[in-house]
Amino acid sequence: MRMIRWATLAVAAIPLLASAQQDFSKVEIKTTALREGTHMLTGAGGNMVASAGADGVFLIDDQFAPLSDKIRAALSTLNDKPLRFVVNTHWHGDHTGGNENLGKAGAVIVAHDNVRKRMSVEQLLLGDKIPAAPGVALPVVTFASDLTLHLNGDTVRVKHVAHAHTDGDALVKFERANVLHMGDVYFNGLYPFIDAESGGSIGGLLEAVDSGLALSDGTTIVVPGHGPVSNRAELAAYGAMLKGYRDRIAALKAEGKTLSQVIAAKPTAATDETLGKAFIKPERLVTFIYETL
Ligand SMILES: [Zn+2]
Repeated sequence: MRMIRWATLAVAAIPLLASAQQDFSKVEIKTTALREGTHMLTGAGGNMVASAGADGVFLIDDQFAPLSDKIRAALSTLNDKPLRFVVNTHWHGDHTGGNENLGKAGAVIVAHDNVRKRMSVEQLLLGDKIPAAPGVALPVVTFASDLTLHLNGDTVRVKHVAHAHTDGDALVKFERANVLHMGDVYFNGLYPFIDAESGGSIGGLLEAVDSGLALSDGTTIVVPGHGPVSNRAELAAYGAMLKGYRDRIAALKAEGKTLSQVIAAKPTAATDETLGKAFIKPERLVTFIYETL
């Protein structure tokens, strides 16, 4: 397990979920060049990847609405062409909050069918009611299994992975740049959130990690939904860790242990200190796995 780098990360304050009360005034959008005209953008919420080139600008995820102007300002430093497409990796508000503003500005929003379905009606997320999004924020182009964009000299494969973090997740692979955005299938440096209310499951999450591994090689730049930029070896270690925890929790459940007995057995103790201090605490991770087995 390559946990050393993870252990050194500051991951305490990652605002994962939309909050109307949150103060975004001090958030800065940082841009990091990746490869072949692709860039990672971070601010508050899910990691974004932008492609800027001769055909214009293309963006994966768009964080929260109050950050849209700052995100557009950051994109305008990449080139002076318009933002043409936004792909959402899934429906959560820390990845789609900018859709309304960017849709109004003319971007075509692309996502899996279930992203549009969920954003069209009120959702429950960790006990909070999330209202339906306005029409202009909804994906205009949706797909069931996959879709390909041909932009800026690259071939961009958008691939649905079923019942993983939600029921509408997509992985996005830039073939020429060899950059892979994993969406919230991959939390780097902290335990993942599995949104069972939105159709997520541990089995689907593990299959989605395998799909990401199949799409990558030793030089792929792997962008997680949350946490620092990563690579295939770290993604493989993350998948192996979760598979181990899934197997241990499944065995305890098969013995007839209740959820509270399994939590008390601390099946994830090996990484609780390094990965379990941020958004998702160890007992939450155990609960997600136990309940979605
Ligand atoms: Zn999410």
